[in-house]
Amino acid sequence: MTVLIAGGGIGGLTLALSLHQIGIAAKVFESEPALKPLGVGINVLPHAVRELIELGLLEQLDASGVRTRELAFFSKHGKPIWSEPRGLEAGYKWPQFSIHRGTLQQILLDAATERLGKENILRSHGCSVGRILTEEEARALMLMQLMSIGKGYSAVRLEMLEQIRVFLNEGLYPYAPCEGTIGGLSFQPYIAVTYIGEGRLIENGVPCPAAEVLKLHGIKPLSIKAREGLALLSNASHSIGVGLLAVYDFIMTMRHADLCAALVCEALRSTDEA
Ligand SMILES: Cc1cc2nc3c(=O)[nH]c(=O)nc-3n(C[C@H](O)[C@H](O)[C@H](O)COP(=O)(O)OP(=O)(O)OC[C@H]3O[C@@H](n4cnc5c(N)ncnc54)[C@H](O)[C@@H]3O)c2cc1C
Repeated sequence: MTVLIAGGGIGGLTLALSLHQIGIAAKVFESEPALKPLGVGINVLPHAVRELIELGLLEQLDASGVRTRELAFFSKHGKPIWSEPRGLEAGYKWPQFSIHRGTLQQILLDAATERLGKENILRSHGCSVGRILTEEEARALMLMQLMSIGKGYSAVRLEMLEQIRVFLNEGLYPYAPCEGTIGGLSFQPYIAVTYIGEGRLIENGVPCPAAEVLKLHGIKPLSIKAREGLALLSNASHSIGVGLLAVYDFIMTMRHADLCAALVCEALRSTDEA
């Protein structure tokens, strides 16, 4: 299900971010061709700040706004008329912020573009068909993702690496058709979307919605941050993973060939004395 939101204002963008956070897809439609930071200074009250903190935006609010401690009115001669504490000073659990309305909207827009946009990279690139990656292949790909991205050159958070590690340890097997003209780029998204609770995982031989399987295993879907989408798609994990499986099979075949040759020699009572 995708929720369609009319208007990319403060309300629309906050709603999109909140829906995204609980795993519901959202699309924002805005009549203005480009959003500009217009408006005046506004006060964001503690109950609204609570929602923004839940969305992980406290750092941005602190960087661009002022924590409001007091609201006071003065006469034109500077004589205090009335004042009262605000935010934390007034006993609320959350601060109040004074911030330019346009700046707040820009913070929300940046977060929405990063969070909703990056995940769309994963959603839009999965376009392969045909044979499904075997469990061995899919998990070799995930292990190689962990090893290559884990080197720390791809701007991927530790949480993402942890998610892949948990998937491997829990024995999860993503459903990924693997035939197409652009190779890994078209089927790695099928694996990457399962990290965010989308797509399908094969449970007891049956492809099931990833969200349900993650719930069953007590795993929380992760959201994608800037650059992580690209890092998960644009790499050679599949070729390396499948290549290593082939090398392993080759080594095992050679070992078995040696054993067979030894057994044949034994059975024929071979001797090195001519
Ligand atoms: C002077 C002033 C001071 C304020 N001070 C405060 C304050 O101190 N504290 C506080 O909490 N609030 C304050 N507010 C209120 C606050 O700014 C609004 O409540 C808030 O901006 C409403 O957000 P919204 O997303 O509902 O609407 P908006 O921010 O108005 O966004 C609506 C969006 O929808 C778009 N749109 C319109 N029609 C369509 C369409 N048909 N299709 C697609 N898009 C469309 C518009 O272009 C716009 O971008 C103040 C408001 C004003 C005007």
